[in-house]
Amino acid sequence: MLNKKVEDALNAQVNAELWSAYLYLSMAHNFEADGKPGIANWFKIQFQEEQAHAEIFMNYINQRGGRVLLKAIDAVETEWATPLDAFKATLEHEQKVTALINNLYAIAESEHDYATREMLNWFVKEQVEEEDSAQELIDKFTLIGNDGMGIYSLDRELATRVFNTPAPLAAE
Ligand code: MG
Repeated sequence: MLNKKVEDALNAQVNAELWSAYLYLSMAHNFEADGKPGIANWFKIQFQEEQAHAEIFMNYINQRGGRVLLKAIDAVETEWATPLDAFKATLEHEQKVTALINNLYAIAESEHDYATREMLNWFVKEQVEEEDSAQELIDKFTLIGNDGMGIYSLDRELATRVFNTPAPLAAE
């Protein structure tokens, strides 16, 4: 059984993951409208990943006899002038999510909830990847600058990204 403090923190994380999903969906449509379907695809996959993250937390709350309580999802920005701006905003956001996961981890430890701490290990590693992939794309778009051909070919590269069910969900 989850204690109230851990349960509340997990529910807050569900909301944060769904907000992340909403943010990336907004970015996807920004680039859809801007004629960059590959970048739009990359953010749509990111949207699916964040929904999966929320689902992992919701499944876990239920598994531990808790109650999933869905709250309102705050509005997100709707415009990013360039892909570089969007990937910079992505990195900034993922750094905040990393801090949230670390905070959750600290709560689990202080409440001696070792099952939750163990579940969070997957997210600790996932955040390393999230920050790394955003940084990699910042580097690429910085290198390309305003070169149209470069942006075109990177857009085509990002069109190939596909969704892979995260391990904790695939195992269910
Ligand atoms: Mg996430």
